[in-house]
Amino acid sequence: MKSLRRVTTAFGLRCPRCQHGKLFVGLIRMNGHCPECGLKFEPEPGFYLGSIYANYGLTVLMTTVSFMLLVFGVGVSKDYAIWGCLAFSVLFPLWFFRYARSIWLSLMYQVNSIDFTSVSAQAAADSGSSSNLSRLQSH
Ligand SMILES: [Zn+2]
Repeated sequence: MKSLRRVTTAFGLRCPRCQHGKLFVGLIRMNGHCPECGLKFEPEPGFYLGSIYANYGLTVLMTTVSFMLLVFGVGVSKDYAIWGCLAFSVLFPLWFFRYARSIWLSLMYQVNSIDFTSVSAQAAADSGSSSNLSRLQSH
């Protein structure tokens, strides 16, 4: 059940910690921190490079499988299938860009949440208020 919640949060483009804060301000512009809990969305420069690789890999896999199914399964002409797959391979990564980042952030947060120091958590740690910090980290 917790895994399903994480998946719906990632596909809802929400913060992996509080599950409420929006990741994106505009179409492609991300918030620096979660507006709800202060989680830092880019813990280090180049953090989202992995999401680009994942997006590319998924696009190649889906394009290849689609081409094979269209040509060898359905019997579509290779000429039509190649143009359809070409269009898909250009449009899909553009559409999936936000979701790839959200999924990447969610995965990395689950694997190693200690790297995600937040403004709120840092402020709580600086002021010596450990109860606020432990509340933030318990999510
Ligand atoms: Zn949050």
